[in-house]
This record gives sequence, structure tokens and C-alpha cells, in this order.
Amino acid sequence: MPKIGIMGGTFDPVHYGHLLAAEESRRILNIDKIIFVPTGDPLYKKHYNYITPAEDRYAMTLLATAGVLEYSVSRTEIDRKIPTHTVDTLREFLNSGIDPEDLFFITGLDAVLSITSWFEYEKIPDMCTIVTAPRPGWDVKAINNLPEIILNKLKVVEIPQFAISSTEIRERVQNNKGIRFLVPHLVQIYIESNNLYKIKI
Ligand code: ATP
Ligand code: MG
Repeated sequence: MPKIGIMGGTFDPVHYGHLLAAEESRRILNIDKIIFVPTGDPLYKKHYNYITPAEDRYAMTLLATAGVLEYSVSRTEIDRKIPTHTVDTLREFLNSGIDPEDLFFITGLDAVLSITSWFEYEKIPDMCTIVTAPRPGWDVKAINNLPEIILNKLKVVEIPQFAISSTEIRERVQNNKGIRFLVPHLVQIYIESNNLYKIKI
């Protein structure tokens, strides 16, 4: 059976940090296919947490992964009309016939360190292997504070670290700084053509 890696994220926008974390996890763990799962639109948009419409984030994720045989993008969270959680998404992939042994959920270190605040997080270790990529600014030793049920299913992959975030990319666009080589070329063109991130919220 093929091994499937799920890479969830807001991807606002997708950048080379996401792609490298996914790709290195794939290579190191011999994962056959990576599925990027952009989050849906939040039900309540507040000024301080404005998120670019899901269709734009989805389009950019498609552009970033186009032509890579092992990558695809899923609309499952975007199309779900109710609030969505990682457990629901993992359950959906398991229901499609994937064995928990073959399912990998890929996160950055910052994300996994907050896992105990996720809805029904204690179910996650039975559903997949959790893979985490170190991220600059986050101490990998902090994983030792995670509950044992998580630690038992957690794999840390060593990857070249990119000190880059979507927040920084949005800020660079607002401040008229270039984003070339921080995001794939077509993502840069999409951001420019659609005037994303220009308006200060
Ligand atoms: P934001 O600044 O808006 O939070 P982000 O760059 O953190 O954006 P997300 O969409 O929040 O991107 O992250 C999706 C997943 O990718 C998370 O698991 C996150 O930890 C991981 N990730 C994001 N950037 C990196 C990076 N530079 N290196 C490794 N993992 C990353
Ligand atoms: Mg983030």
C-alpha cells in the first residue's frame, strides 16, 4: 500500500518552508504521495485574523505543487461547510481505505507543540504517524513536554531550516519588499496579479 503524507496548513500564502518540510518528510520516510490540505474559510472573519479567501489559497497551493508527480492538493477542508479539525480530515482519509500505518500527518514544530489544544487530539496517534519538521525559533527539546501518547507516534525529521513564514511574506508584500525566491514563481505572480496582501488590515 502506498504511504500517504498529509500536509495541512492555512497556506496564506504557501511558501518554500512548507514545500521543503513536505518534501524532506517524504524523502526521509519514503512517503509515496503528499496531499496538501488548505484549511477552509473561517466561519467568523475578524479584522485581526483576516484570512485570504480559501479559493485563492487553494489556487496558490495548486500553482506551487503543479507538475510534482508525488504532490496533490485536497479540497476537503475548503468544501466542508462546518468547522473542520485535523481529526476529521484524518478520519476522512482513513475512511477512503488508507491504513493508519500508511498515513503520516506532517507539521512544523510550532504546530505540533500546540497539539494538546487541538480538538480530540488524543485520537490522532491511533490514526497516523505524526511527523514534525524543526522550525527556526522553536526548540526541538520542547517536544519532551508532550504527552506520551503523542511522543510514541511522533517522528522528528532533520531538514534544512528556512526562517520563513506566511506572516513574513504578507508583511513583505505590504511593505513593498520583494518575495522572489521565498515563494514559487507562479505563487509570486498570482499574489501580484490579484493584489493580495496589499491592504493593511
Ligand atoms: P502563518 O505565519 O500565517 O502562521 P506559516 O508560515 O506558519 O503561516 P501555516 O500555514 O500556518 O504557515 O503552516 C502550515 C504548516 O507548515 C504548519 O505545520 C507549520 O508548522 C509548517 N511550516 C510553516 N512554515 C514552515 C517552515 N518555515 N519550516 C517548517 N515548517 C513550516
Ligand atoms: Mg503558522
